[in-house]
Amino acid sequence: MIQKAEAIVLKTLNHGDTSKIITLYSREYGRLKLIAKGVRSPKSKAMGLFQPTRHIQVIYYAKSTSDLQLFKSGELLDGFFGLEEDFDRLTLAQVMVELLDRSVEDEESHPILFQLLVDSLSRLSNRSIASAEAFWFFHTHLLLELGFRPHVGHCSVCRESLDDGGSLGLGSSQLECVKCHQPGHDSILVGGVVLQVIQGLLDSNWSEVEPSTLNARERRTLWDFLWQFTFHHIESARGMKSLKVLRQLYG
Ligand SMILES: [Zn+2]
Repeated sequence: MIQKAEAIVLKTLNHGDTSKIITLYSREYGRLKLIAKGVRSPKSKAMGLFQPTRHIQVIYYAKSTSDLQLFKSGELLDGFFGLEEDFDRLTLAQVMVELLDRSVEDEESHPILFQLLVDSLSRLSNRSIASAEAFWFFHTHLLLELGFRPHVGHCSVCRESLDDGGSLGLGSSQLECVKCHQPGHDSILVGGVVLQVIQGLLDSNWSEVEPSTLNARERRTLWDFLWQFTFHHIESARGMKSLKVLRQLYG
């Protein structure tokens, strides 16, 4: 059966001498794997489509008994070319697609998540939008859509409000107040201002997100909190290659 899908390229793998296996996240069918035969030959017109982060439309032969479908043709909808001139933004975009790839199951459609990815890549490729906010919005809303809402308002033990900040023990995803937390050398202390920013991101549409005024240290704890929370819920995110590059940029 011939099918059509709108998708973002998540990753590609060379196969044989001239082919590629492409992993896509599609609006219609969730994560999809296609084999594109002959696309690495110099004559192929499809090669430019298959860079991770590209927004494309594909036509393919679908067989319900196979988890690898045969690519027929495709066209580019948006290359997000603004990313290519900026290594930081390109790295963040690669973290987005790799995190999504590791968060979803095959062939389970989630159109809201798909739209979040398209919109977030588009914002990242627009230099007039702050890249950190674009990324944080994606990250917090991905967690929301997957059903992992970070609770940043109250201590997970005594339920008191965390206006003055909270701490996260090693490997935990639950914040505790100063009175309840047993400090260890791996504890992450997240300030009240940072927790408010996270709460604001979780409670807002993109149009309501305000530029943050966090300093470098506060931004760092925001990252540390979001990633420790993510690793706790999405174990396979721990081995992300693009995250290693990101750490070299900001570490
Ligand atoms: Zn407490």
